[in-house]
Order: sequence, then C-alpha cells, then structure tokens
Amino acid sequence: MNLDFDKMGGLLPAVVQDADTGQVLMLGYVNEEAWQKTRQEGRVTFFSRSKNRLWTKGETSGNYLTVVSLHEDCDGDALLIRARPDGPTCHRGTVSCFEQPAQTALPTAPVGFLAELERLVQRRRDFPDEDPKSYTASLFRKGMPKIAQKVGEEAVETVIDAVGGNTEGLKGEAADLLYHLLVLLAGSGLTLEDIVSVLRQRHSTIAAGVRRE
Ligand code: AMP
Ligand code: ZN
Ligand code: ZN
Ligand code: ZN
Repeated sequence: MNLDFDKMGGLLPAVVQDADTGQVLMLGYVNEEAWQKTRQEGRVTFFSRSKNRLWTKGETSGNYLTVVSLHEDCDGDALLIRARPDGPTCHRGTVSCFEQPAQTALPTAPVGFLAELERLVQRRRDFPDEDPKSYTASLFRKGMPKIAQKVGEEAVETVIDAVGGNTEGLKGEAADLLYHLLVLLAGSGLTLEDIVSVLRQRHSTIAAGVRRE
C-alpha cells in the first residue's frame, strides 16, 4: 500500500500509541518529509500546522517518542506509530494528550496496566531511595531469596483460595502473585515482554499445527 499524501492535501493523521501499554498518547499530522525523517531517525517527527514546519516531538522538552513500529491503515491515508515515550507526551505534563490534568488519569486497558505497573516496579528497583516509604523498594533492598519467597507464598495462597472456591480471596491473592512476579522478574533482569515472547512463540507453534511434547 502506498501512502496517499497527495489525496489528503499533503498531511496524514498519525496516532501515537505507547508500545508497551497500548495507551493512545497523541495525534499529530505528518507530511512526506516528516514521515521520512521519522523512519530515518527512529524518533517521531510531525509537520506542525501551527509552527508551519517539521516538529520533532521532544525537541525542546526532551520528551522524545522513540519509534518501535510504524503501521499504515487499510487504504493508506492514516498512520499508527507505536513508540516509547521518554516522559509525559503532552506539553501539559500528562502521559497522554487525551487525559485532563485536573481529573484522574485516563486508565490504560486492563492488561496494558500490567506494563504500567512494571515500569513503576523497575523504577523502584533502579531508584530505591526516591520514595523512602516504598514497599517495592524495600523488597529490592532485601534482595533475592526474600523476593522469590514472596512469590512462593502468594502462589500457595492463590492455590488455597482457588481450591477452596473462595473467589473473592482468589482475586486478591492472584493480584499479590502478579505483583510479586513482576518484582521477581525485575529483580532477575527480565521484563514482561521477555515472558510474553515465550508465550507468543509457543502460541504460534501451536497455531501452525506443530505438536509439542
Ligand atoms: P516538545 O516537542 O515536547 O519539545 O514541545 C515543544 C512545544 O510543542 C510545546 O511547547 C508545545 O507548544 C508543543 N507540544 C508539545 N507536546 C505537544 C503535544 N503532545 N500536543 C500538542 N502540542 C505539543
Ligand atoms: Zn483509511
Ligand atoms: Zn497535549
Ligand atoms: Zn497474599
């Protein structure tokens, strides 16, 4: 599919989505030159209609959008950019341009929230002194046998509630388990993405009809 810049008066709308959480961050417009620059440099560049020039998002704030993947729609007149933001994408300081500063943050889609939580866990690992009251930071200070032990405990509690038919308890224990698993992964230098790619690989093997042991 060829992008139809001409049909659209030289500008195509480009939706920017957080590559990890799936959250929609902003909408901008690109001309052919902005699109080419985005592809070449791996950072999102728009054509700003108010500035009337190419505008690399982050050029003054430092909050660049690093390109993960680029997609065009069915008929080549709209774009989707998956990116990793260096900081708040909106110039008002919010993560997304679609959330209002005074209101509660626009929640990510349910499973995308795990990626958001993972980011916070990684931040506690990397800057444990940022929040002195942080439980997550205290886990990282205690280190490995303790972090792994918590996963074991929560797994057992999850099993007990599942077997006992305690659905309300199970919700809480499964939440504990997911959280402590995120801490364990971060403490082991792994990411959810690493684990999901293993699952994806198995999934595609099954989908292709390859039998597993
Ligand atoms: P930045 O590209 O982040 O260095 O910001 C430079 C200027 O671009 C800001 O002062 C705003 O005028 C504008 N701007 C930045 N981010 C956005 C955004 N997400 N949506 C609209 N305008 C923006
Ligand atoms: Zn279209
Ligand atoms: Zn904005
Ligand atoms: Zn528990």
